[in-house]
This record gives sequence, structure tokens and C-alpha cells, in this order.
Amino acid sequence: MHVLIVQKFGGTSVADARRVNHVAKRIAHSRQLGNQIVVVLSAQGSTTDQLLEKAKEINPDASKRELDLLLATGEQQSIALMSMALHKLGCPAISLTGPQAGIHSTSAHGNARIKRIEPERITQELDKNNIVIVAGFQGMNRYGDITTLGRGGSDTSAVALAASLHADLCEIYTDVSGVYTADPRIVKNAQKLNEIRYDEMLELASLGAKVLATRSVELAKKYQVNLVVRNSMSMEEGTLVKEEAIVENTYVSGLALDKNVASVSVIGVRNKPGTAFKLFQTLAKAKISVDIILQSIGRDKTKDISFTVAKQDLQQAVQVLQAGKDSLGFESLSYDDSIVKLSVVGAGMASNPGVASMLFEALYNGGINIMMISTSEIKISVLIDARDADNAANAVHSRFFSQPVGAQQSQA
Ligand code: ASP
Ligand code: MG
Repeated sequence: MHVLIVQKFGGTSVADARRVNHVAKRIAHSRQLGNQIVVVLSAQGSTTDQLLEKAKEINPDASKRELDLLLATGEQQSIALMSMALHKLGCPAISLTGPQAGIHSTSAHGNARIKRIEPERITQELDKNNIVIVAGFQGMNRYGDITTLGRGGSDTSAVALAASLHADLCEIYTDVSGVYTADPRIVKNAQKLNEIRYDEMLELASLGAKVLATRSVELAKKYQVNLVVRNSMSMEEGTLVKEEAIVENTYVSGLALDKNVASVSVIGVRNKPGTAFKLFQTLAKAKISVDIILQSIGRDKTKDISFTVAKQDLQQAVQVLQAGKDSLGFESLSYDDSIVKLSVVGAGMASNPGVASMLFEALYNGGINIMMISTSEIKISVLIDARDADNAANAVHSRFFSQPVGAQQSQA
């Protein structure tokens, strides 16, 4: 019985010829151990950004179909080059575009979803003893047009292929050694996790921890793909992402800082039924997603409603609300885009009621003011001033992780 492994390498891991050769050796080594290997690659380095720039120079309002055709070339360069590097090592290898690999997607250019994979070509090539190298981030819609899966979409390609091929393992190789308790660039004591649950990873990914694309974690959970995140430049063990992980910290598994938030406050709306409905309907019609919502009592039968949106949606949110000022009936509008969202995530939270108070205590001790709070079963988020971001992350991290694993005491 062969062991089938899907190995995905990110853009930094294949950024130049030296790294392509390094990764090729690594792939060749895995194959020499007797495994069947399917490789998924991202575009080299910042190729995707450069291609976007190029398009913008020609036409800032480029058609999404043409953009996809252009962006998909980044990944095609990587797979062809990798195949050449493997041939040089004497390894039989073949590169396939997303369409050639049977990846069928929806038609939403720029943000397509994988609908199904017809893996026959891949299986045939594996049977011929080839290492199969597939372009990440791309698929084909029902008209045969090439699509892309949204930024970071190569992770999604890899997990979807692993699910469809019933691979034994899906390895995501990147430039960090795994999933950390916090961003090591901001929190110097951040620790690498040996294991993390799908649900926790899902929260961390959607909160802006960039190590895995959110959609890829959703798929991994849905199809129970054995996922591991590891470093392409070292042999260090990575982080296993799975259904039931061994929890090292009783309270939280990690924290994330999301800088892509802005808040809007609608002051002095009428305190009667339908107010919130009309307000959020206006935003929904403009396709603006709202995250945290806070309603507070105002004066004279009015109330204030504040909410957060992604930074890029701020301007439009303010515009559509201003345009509807008369029918929405508010006094004034204010907004703030110098805020960040700090979140702690952990499956253990559900059974440890002290977590919120530990978080607030750490922020209080750091002299950090909280503007909004939101909670879910395995996550607590607070909105704070952007200038406090790094301090807050460090203060909160040391509250939850400074003591030896398993020794934390709730002071709630
Ligand atoms: N090259 C694409 C991007 O930069 C896809 C990926 O790297 O996963 O977003
Ligand atoms: Mg990535």
C-alpha cells in the first residue's frame, strides 16, 4: 500500500531558483521514502501582486475573467519550473494546470469555489510513477474558462485535492514552522503549537492569522483531512490540525490581531422596532458584511448603534448610510479606522468560565481601553485602539501563556 501525500508549498518557499531546487530535493526525498506525491504550488514570491499591478497599469477596471487568466499564469510558472527541477534530479514529474488536474469551480471569477474534482488524470500520472505538480489557486468553470479561488487559495486547492484523492496526509509548507500561539513578529514569546483543532484553526484563520486560508480549514474539517503546517526550510515537526487535538493550554490555544477593521457609530436612532433591521438591511443590500454590533441607550427615546466592518468597506458603509439618513432617521454618524480587533481562541473556553475576566484583567493591567466586546463559544474579541495593538497582544499573551503548560490558574 502506497502512502499518498499532498504537499503544498507557498510563494516564499518557491520564490527563486535556489528555493525551487531546495524544495525539489525535499519532494524527491519524500518520494524516495516510497510515498506517492502530489505537489501543489503557489506563484513565486510576490508574483500575484505584481501581476495585479500590471493589470492595473493597463486597465484599473479590468474584467475579472481576464484578470483570472493573468493571475493563473503565476502558478503555472511555478509548476513548470518545479517539474524541470525534479527532472534534473532524475525524478519523473509532470505539471498540470488546475483545469488539467480536473478542478471544477463556480464561475465567480476572482473568488471561485471548488465544486468538484475529477482526479482521473492525476491518478493516471501517479500510476505512471510520476510526481504530479498541480497549479494551486485555480480551477475551471463550466464554460471551460480558468478561474481563481481568492487570495491564499492554493491552500484550498491542496486540501481539496487531498480530500478528493483520499490522501493520507496534506502537508502545507510555509515560511514559519507551524501555527503559533500568537504572531511571533509581534509577540516574542509566541510558542509553536503541536496540535490544534479544526474549529480553533478556523477561528484563528478568519481572525487574520495568515498561516492557512479559511476556506482550506473548512474543507479540511468537512472531509477530515489530516493536515500539517510546517516549515519548508527546516525539518522541524509542524503543527497538526485535527478534530480532537491535545490541548496544551487549558484556556486558550492562540490569539489573533486583526488590523483590517473599522467601526461606525450611528448616533441617535429611534428606539423602536425595525430600526436595526432597516440599518443592517441597507448595509446588506450594499453587500457589506458587519462583524461586531453594539447597541446602547442614548437620550430622549433614542439609541446608538455601533458596528464594525472591514476597512475597505468603510467608505461605502458611510456613504450608503448617509444616503439613507432621512428614512433611517439618525442624528449623526461617526467612524474610526484606527482600531484593531484582538481575539483569544480556545476550545477550552466553553468549560472554563474565567477566560473573559483573565483577558480583561490583562488589558486593564496594561492600561488598555476596550471599545467593544464580542464572544462566541470558543472566542472572545475586543476592539481596541490601533496604537495599543502590540502592547495588548503581549500583555494578553503573557497572561495566558507565560506559565508552564498546564499550570495556569484562573483568577476569576
Ligand atoms: N498566489 C495566490 C496569492 O498570492 C494564491 C496563493 O498563494 O495561495 O494569493
Ligand atoms: Mg498562503
